[in-house]
Amino acid sequence: MFSIVVHGGAGPKRDQESGDAARASCLAAAERGAAILSAGGSALDAVEAAARWLEDDPLFNAGLGAVLNADGEVELDASVMNGETLEAGAVAVVKTVKNPISLARLVMEKSPHVLLVGEGADAFARAQGVPAIAPGSLVTPLQRQRWLERTGATHGTIGAVAVDQRGQVAAATSTGGTAGKLKGRVGDSPLIGAGTVADSRWAAASSTGLGEFIIRVGLARAVLEGVRRGAALNLACEEAIAELKRIGGDGGLIAVTPSGGVGWAFCSERMAGAFVKSTGERGTFFD
Ligand code: ASP
Repeated sequence: MFSIVVHGGAGPKRDQESGDAARASCLAAAERGAAILSAGGSALDAVEAAARWLEDDPLFNAGLGAVLNADGEVELDASVMNGETLEAGAVAVVKTVKNPISLARLVMEKSPHVLLVGEGADAFARAQGVPAIAPGSLVTPLQRQRWLERTGATHGTIGAVAVDQRGQVAAATSTGGTAGKLKGRVGDSPLIGAGTVADSRWAAASSTGLGEFIIRVGLARAVLEGVRRGAALNLACEEAIAELKRIGGDGGLIAVTPSGGVGWAFCSERMAGAFVKSTGERGTFFD
């Protein structure tokens, strides 16, 4: 038994064409993770592989194609959590790394810390042998144009949650944050409990939407707490989103349980995503 769910961000509706492309890419990412899980690989490896796929796709606001901050720069946030050990790693305000999700994993595995930010995170990447990308190389013409026109209301953060054949769960989240954000702003995505959570006793979850609200309700952990209290996964997801909505937030989340259950909920106009289960069930969701 295994399951994986990925999301490509909650937010305003995309047009039909880019919505279809986002869904297809989410399914491809989920299939990539599922191939690892089906070969007996770990949930952690699966969510990292799925997240890297989506970071590399310029359709999403993570890695290549991330939104620009107020100064016209890319500043990336990401986090990962291993539900087997409750170890976690995260980076924020990173500028020189192509795949911040893998840097977050290095923080988890090769440092005594959970969260590194800014220059320190970029320096840690170099110390770990992660090549520096040229400044500006993650900036796509579309995001540059949106920045020039100040029309960047896009979401498109990415995330993945999985349970492996051993019943262990993991979660990963990666983003460029919100368009036009102040330099140095950190959202929910690199914060354990807000953007990402995994505990193999209960669930794993990844959030998307306006981080300023998600942080305040601890959105990912709210799902885990719902499951811990005995709620069915989809109810736990809905209740967490209801709380986000109650304080005026906008967003969504995906989740899995150690027994292979998959769930998602959102209160924004749409949330792109996909899932694959060992039973052969697979599909996409858009809105
Ligand atoms: N949660 C992300 C942030 O606030 C943005 C998003 O999910 O669209 O940084």
